[in-house]
Amino acid sequence: MSKAIQAIRGMNDCLPGETNKWQMVEDVLRRVASNYGYAEIRMPIVESTNLFKRSIGEVTDIVEKEMYTFDDRNGDSLTLRPEGTASCVRAGNQHGLLYNQEQRLWYMGPMFRHERPQKGRYRQFHQFGIESFGISTADIDAEVILLSARLWRELGISEFVTLELNSLGSNEARAQYRDALIAFLEQHQDILDEDSKRRMYSNPLRVLDSKNPDVQALLKDAPSLSEHLDPESKQHFDELCKRLDAAGVSYRINERLVRGLDYYNRTVFEWVTDSLGAQGTVCAGGRYDGLVEQLGGKGTPGVGFALGIERLVLMLTELEKLGNIRSSVDAYIVMAGEQAEITGIALAEQWRDQVKDIRIQCHCGGGKFNKQLKRADKSGAHVAIILGDSEIEQQQATIKYLREKKEQQTVPFDGVAKLLEELI
Ligand code: ATP
Ligand code: MG
Repeated sequence: MSKAIQAIRGMNDCLPGETNKWQMVEDVLRRVASNYGYAEIRMPIVESTNLFKRSIGEVTDIVEKEMYTFDDRNGDSLTLRPEGTASCVRAGNQHGLLYNQEQRLWYMGPMFRHERPQKGRYRQFHQFGIESFGISTADIDAEVILLSARLWRELGISEFVTLELNSLGSNEARAQYRDALIAFLEQHQDILDEDSKRRMYSNPLRVLDSKNPDVQALLKDAPSLSEHLDPESKQHFDELCKRLDAAGVSYRINERLVRGLDYYNRTVFEWVTDSLGAQGTVCAGGRYDGLVEQLGGKGTPGVGFALGIERLVLMLTELEKLGNIRSSVDAYIVMAGEQAEITGIALAEQWRDQVKDIRIQCHCGGGKFNKQLKRADKSGAHVAIILGDSEIEQQQATIKYLREKKEQQTVPFDGVAKLLEELI
């Protein structure tokens, strides 16, 4: 026998027992996005490598070590998208959706990063994201955050996530802060690890994000970003906070929060949880007013977030918030005898016509009555609809309840639709 081929490490199959959880989560994401007037956009999974280099930034984890980049047959450098914002802006520019307009968009789909696979961290993972273009005032930052907060409420996990908030200020303010931070880091080079030393000059803000405990301890004395905020950014941040306060969304201001992508300015935020171990960030986002121009469009402000669907599903599973998911079959038709097999399939067609959302599975492949009933039970169906020779003769079905203590009953064929309606 030849050796079985396995999936690529860090790229997971989503099997039927999981897909129903995903669908439930995806339904909530779609519905809430549309509750706020956001429209879906779908972008290709492969883009020019330069798109990500120019937007995410050359000195970032993603571009330095995580991208799946390859030359295609024409020798063009292509990359499997590591995130959605860059592609969304590219698409918006290309189709003239952004300049002088307002757009509220959402997307959902696979992203690719070559990271060390572990719980909550994969090489192919899925994000749901929203992006809002054309509005520079803090009300839209608040809307984006309120939308995310509503997701947690709808999914029943509000009490397990915390909002962390910060402002990175304007590009000029950040440049000033950058100099102050470099001066501080230069004085403490002995404590810095190799990664931090390398980034000290190229992207010193990323040092704030270091996971090394010694570096984190050192940073307690580092100059703070908030002292360097420009007055306009400070006002923007205050206005955002006021709106969140009024809407009853609590947050923790975290001055260390800088995010791993270079395009952010002003507002940045993350929703974190301690129910996931090390991979504690479920959702992250912020404002990116320079990105549209940086990618060749005319200046258009933007703000958005992306959340990791795997982390969300993991969290919901661990917190047992997915208990009441409808199984994928409502009714299973057991057909014993040749006439029942022939008529059964036709009856199932009629019942599917009559009850639009019903999920009926017909037993196929024949076999003994008891074996068929076992299959019915295994399918997760609520009822078995039993058709034997006597049922066909009398034009009625025997209904056996598989999930509740209830006497089995016989129902004329034309009464089955009504009974099925009640199962949805
Ligand atoms: P982290 O600090 O965990 O690496 P990140 O800052 O790289 O996250 P973003 O680029 O902001 O993450 O992506 C937004 C969200 O997408 C994250 O908060 C997380 O939920 C999810 N995510 C990011 N990378 C992965 C991954 N490799 N596997 C699964 N989910 C991921
Ligand atoms: Mg990362």
